[in-house]
Amino acid sequence: MKLTILGNNGPFPAAGGACSGYLVQCGGKCILIDCGNGVLANLQKFIRLEELDAIILTHLHSDHISDMFVLKYAVQIKRKRGQFDRTLEVYAPPEPSEEYGRLDVRDAFNLKTISADTVLKIGDFSITFAQMKHPSLDFAVRMECDGKKFVFSGDTSWTDEIISFSKGADLLMLDAGLLEKDFAEGAPHLTAAQCGIAASGAGAKKLLLTHFWPDYDVNELLEEARHSYANTEAARLLQSYEI
Ligand SMILES: [Zn+2]
Ligand SMILES: [Zn+2]
Repeated sequence: MKLTILGNNGPFPAAGGACSGYLVQCGGKCILIDCGNGVLANLQKFIRLEELDAIILTHLHSDHISDMFVLKYAVQIKRKRGQFDRTLEVYAPPEPSEEYGRLDVRDAFNLKTISADTVLKIGDFSITFAQMKHPSLDFAVRMECDGKKFVFSGDTSWTDEIISFSKGADLLMLDAGLLEKDFAEGAPHLTAAQCGIAASGAGAKKLLLTHFWPDYDVNELLEEARHSYANTEAARLLQSYEI
């Protein structure tokens, strides 16, 4: 299984950066998790749009979905020109309903809802979900393929569910949207320190931090996380990771 970082910022991109977007490939299948602003441009550095098998949206905040609204143009026009012979499979939480409705573009997307019970089989992938804790309904994604396990939290503040859902992950990628100094009760993201605690509790083999506030020094985030979990890296834009 291979993970490629197409966007690692939130909730807005750094100069030359991109918001949430991750390409996961295994057994010839290509799945995009989240499609924030800048992701579509970066995706095409690795694959053609026609190669995408499915898109999974962890939640419907703009930094995770905004490029869906230009991707629809690509699919609509390519279909008219005979360059694309299907609509794209898109899986998303059903709330907020107004945002979900905006994604229901029938001549571009085959939109389906995600719940905590959803199990997807796509090629060799087995994909399951767990509800996280965020102002917008949000699901962590667990992808298993080729005997390996990758878990991504989406956006979340602390919940013990992160640890139980990530048990034994070969790679755990977490929302490190905050440094401890900026933490306030009810904040919608994990601190990097909490990411380290979660990875340690889950017995993950490796931790990747992501969802970087553009003004942060990533080294400070790494230092916080490594306090509890040594094998931590920062998700680097356009870098691929073998899982
Ligand atoms: Zn976000
Ligand atoms: Zn969010």
